[in-house]
Amino acid sequence: MNWDVIGHEWAVHLLRHALEAGELSHAYLFTGPPGVGKGTLARALASALLCQGAARPCGACRACRLVAGGNHPDLFWVQPESDPGTLKVEQIRELQRHLSRTPAMGSHRVAILDRFDQATPSAANALLKTLEEPPEFVVLILLAPDTDSLLPTIVSRCQVIPLRPLPVARVADALRERWGLEAERARLLAHLSGGRLGWAVRAATDADLLRRRQQRIEEMGALLGAPLTDRFRYAAELAGNPEAVQEALDLWAGWWRDVLLLATGAESAAPEESRLTNLDYRPRLEQLAAQYTPAQVLARIQAIRAASERLRRNANPQLTLEVLLGFDL
Ligand SMILES: [Zn+2]
Repeated sequence: MNWDVIGHEWAVHLLRHALEAGELSHAYLFTGPPGVGKGTLARALASALLCQGAARPCGACRACRLVAGGNHPDLFWVQPESDPGTLKVEQIRELQRHLSRTPAMGSHRVAILDRFDQATPSAANALLKTLEEPPEFVVLILLAPDTDSLLPTIVSRCQVIPLRPLPVARVADALRERWGLEAERARLLAHLSGGRLGWAVRAATDADLLRRRQQRIEEMGALLGAPLTDRFRYAAELAGNPEAVQEALDLWAGWWRDVLLLATGAESAAPEESRLTNLDYRPRLEQLAAQYTPAQVLARIQAIRAASERLRRNANPQLTLEVLLGFDL
């Protein structure tokens, strides 16, 4: 058995057992933060379902190779056209046409619906029909950050598999052993990833991602002492790019969480077991921890989380950022 998934052993075990016992569900919902491994696990399950070898997934047969290459005629990967974007009802209708035909190669047709939280209400409703009466040979795998972002009628028709971030040390080991990163870089990326291996692997190959992070940290530092007009100007600039807003809020929340760990003395002294996310900014974080009380830092973290939550509920990005940057930070 070669599921080729790092971590999430309980989920692999559960799916493997269901497959062997012939008790696989017609619909799964894998939840977890971006980069945690939902797509990797979905592809492994698809491979196991479509594999023509003896020990499924064998990783070597024609079906497994086609799945790995993204070309298997019975595997359909549907996702919003951009990120963030929307998954449209036309995409679901087209998928349903494919799923109504019998499998081309094996015994199943598998659909992976990535970032299904970005499906329009009509797309979600259209999929409900397939979820209610799926053709015998169809397995649907929905991916989303959490169940709250989906219609309850969708969630209740899926078996939910919640994927959690891996221990940071596990991510660091994987980055070293499998992706050949040197130890210090592996440790930093593992900490920054918060246990999301997929994110760490992307960061390892995308220098832009780390440059953007550094830029955002510098900007935040500059904003702390800046006049209100400058903060509002920054809010307006940032609000123009929805993806950047969420990225910045996540980064700020992680940053102040680090300050809180230091301010309360909850941070372990050894860098290897450090609970800090932004390991490479330790001196600056220590400065801030000495400057603010834990209560002040906690209030900031809560304000950032509240802003994140409002944005998820479609609040106006510029107004939300103005309140956060103008008064709460
Ligand atoms: Zn195979």
